[in-house]
Amino acid sequence: MAKRNTFSEDEQVQQRPDLAQFGKVLKYVYPYRSSIALSIVFMLVASATSMVSPLLLKRIINDVVKQDDYRDLVLMIAGMALLALLEIFVTLFQQRIMGTVGHEAIAKIRQEVFYKLQKLPFEYFDSRPDGKIVVRVTDYVNDLANFFTNQLIQLFIYIVKLVMAIIFMLVISPPLTLVVLLAVGPMMACIMKLRKTVRGIFPTHRAKVANRTAFLIEVIMGEKIIKNFNRSEESKKTYMGVHMESVNTWMKIVRLNELNTPIVMLFWNLGMLALYGISLLLIKNGNSAVTAGTVVVFTSYMSLFSGPLTQIASIIQQLAQTSSNLERVFDTLEQPLEIEDEENANVLDHIKGRVDFDHVYFEYEENAPVLKDFDLHVEPGQTIALVGPTGAGKSTVINLLTRFYDVKQGAVRIDGIDVRNVTLESLRREVGVLMQDPFIFKGTIIENIRYGKPSATDEECIRAAELIHADEHIRNLSDGYNHILQERGQGLSAGQKQLISFARIILKNPSVVILDEATSSIDTETEGLIQQALAYILKNKTAFVVAHRLSTVRNADRILYISNYGIAESGTHEELMKLNGLYAALNKAGLQEEN
Ligand code: ADP
Repeated sequence: MAKRNTFSEDEQVQQRPDLAQFGKVLKYVYPYRSSIALSIVFMLVASATSMVSPLLLKRIINDVVKQDDYRDLVLMIAGMALLALLEIFVTLFQQRIMGTVGHEAIAKIRQEVFYKLQKLPFEYFDSRPDGKIVVRVTDYVNDLANFFTNQLIQLFIYIVKLVMAIIFMLVISPPLTLVVLLAVGPMMACIMKLRKTVRGIFPTHRAKVANRTAFLIEVIMGEKIIKNFNRSEESKKTYMGVHMESVNTWMKIVRLNELNTPIVMLFWNLGMLALYGISLLLIKNGNSAVTAGTVVVFTSYMSLFSGPLTQIASIIQQLAQTSSNLERVFDTLEQPLEIEDEENANVLDHIKGRVDFDHVYFEYEENAPVLKDFDLHVEPGQTIALVGPTGAGKSTVINLLTRFYDVKQGAVRIDGIDVRNVTLESLRREVGVLMQDPFIFKGTIIENIRYGKPSATDEECIRAAELIHADEHIRNLSDGYNHILQERGQGLSAGQKQLISFARIILKNPSVVILDEATSSIDTETEGLIQQALAYILKNKTAFVVAHRLSTVRNADRILYISNYGIAESGTHEELMKLNGLYAALNKAGLQEEN
């Protein structure tokens, strides 16, 4: 398994642009190839028009102003205005086309990353903090969107303009072209050096920002605990620490970027001076190819030059950043799905509910076994209570049955079929899980109940609530079943949340039920309701309960005391009490007595 990463640890950073990452994007832009071709044509037209205007200006200065007739002058100026208009509109269309293509391609990537996240095994989520997953779907993909919809197009436009300007200049005057290139060459070298330094810092900066997001998400999730333990001050300090690390790297980048303009201005001014000086020399020496008009044209071309050159350098710098973002995004997209349907997987349907763990070995991390040679055979309809010390592996038994993780050795079977050979969809339909702290989504109570079966009618949802006697409770709330619940069920008691999850499971009606019993104490009235509801839900179903309550344990057909990588004791309450071993001790020490 990948190393567990935290907010205090940088993700691995990649320094050199990896062009192969860009190749992977081709798959997403390929469907838009005709739009892209049209856009390239527009781009060429726009670049060509911007080259022609200086030529018209040259004619005006060299010839037209000397004529008495104003007709040519008006025509030339009108021509320049038309060219400018043409360039504006063609550029507008071109950017619109590429903007749309870029956004659509990125939307597809964003969608695929999201879909993939829903399929990824728990191991993926275990190996990095939530915040670092969030930045992949948000920040990194946003950066890609910006790069592909703005910067990449700009890069092409600038390169085309640059090449055209050089060609036009060469045609007019090779010696003056050489002067321009001699000024621009060192300027480019300096800028590229600067960008390279920035490029070296950028991935570290990204890693620092990811750390900050990771910490932020951790704080949001742990808000209650932080307040309860009065740790807000420490959190502030830690946040400032991770924040300052990202600020420091950012400030280094800002300082370096500030050098950009002075470098451009220095070489630009030197170039201009050299251009004027050498033109003057050439004119004085009677070089007929160089005129006042030529100098104006070259000045125009040089200004077409300097802007794009800086931009090109900046975009090249972005290439490295984008390729590292792409790498993270594709890393998510290309993660192998360790837990996915086998070809020809069986569909579990109307199962009896026999469950077998055949000599199972499991570990989350290498060489840290949690279960060793775990062997358990459960008949349909039996209720199994799992008890034992924290960290013994009770939840792990359940994680394997639901196939949240796969066994490393041995097999888990339902009705004799290995869970690895059944479709995940049917496995999760037939095996229902009741979590200790059931997740409540923002929405009404009835919508939250319907989560158990999206096609359920209102009547079915209400009937499910009635079956567990939660109906009266719900009707007493303002708006009854339409009472709006907040995210994570704020405002509901633990017992109320449990009742909603019970109603969900009644709708879902799985053949095997897994219950992680709440450890928190629940008020007497709700507790009574919950015990009644449980008895109803577990009737005629195979059930596994990570039990904390004496009554649940007592009512179980079999109790398993899990410790030391497996089943330490197994039997009914009476049998195990008689054995006077680990279970009896636990029982005396106080499984939660009923309220
Ligand atoms: P229980 O439910 O009995 O309290 P668990 O099954 O949750 O115990 O955990 C068994 C062992 O596996 C513990 O040592 C725990 O630290 C470890 N463990 C549980 N979940 C993970 C995980 N996602 N990654 C690594 N180790 C884990």
